[in-house]
Amino acid sequence: MIKSIYEKKVPFSRATIALRGYHVGMDNKDKELLKKCVVIAHEAMEKGNHPFGALLADKDGKVLLTQGNEFTLGGSAYHAETILVMKAARLYDPDFLSTCTLYTNFEPCCMCTGAVYWSNIGRICFGMTEAELLRCTGDNEENPTFDLSSREVVSHGQKKIVIDGPTDDEELKALILKDHMDFWKNRG
Ligand SMILES: [Zn+2]
Repeated sequence: MIKSIYEKKVPFSRATIALRGYHVGMDNKDKELLKKCVVIAHEAMEKGNHPFGALLADKDGKVLLTQGNEFTLGGSAYHAETILVMKAARLYDPDFLSTCTLYTNFEPCCMCTGAVYWSNIGRICFGMTEAELLRCTGDNEENPTFDLSSREVVSHGQKKIVIDGPTDDEELKALILKDHMDFWKNRG
């Protein structure tokens, strides 16, 4: 019963999404927006936070909201994606959010993927995997990274979210990694 309510609101497959004119697969526009996430992440780092950045874009790639990590404000729970989703959920209705994409430099953790799920945002596009992040952070006490893919999290829910990532673009990967290579060794 619950599923039938969501079916009206949430895109259930890539084919449905394509039919409705939404984005499918990672293209150059996505890469451009992921590069913007790297800039947002860098700015967050310069303010003393962790180098994570996220943005929300509509189906045409127009940026609606941007958000950096806010460790200095709220500690380890203040992930860029979750803060972004909370803001988006107050500004936009779930039907509209189902057509939007959350972009983030690294794959969202289970908390952030959960926030995307509950807000009804229809798609996640990330640059590098959480497993790749874990290799950078190790067991750093400020960011004891999960080893749990966003696809795994979503697979246990009642509605689907389109997930694109990681990128295979080596230049973009290098950009994403740049601020993480030495960051975690000097933290905590
Ligand atoms: Zn997170």
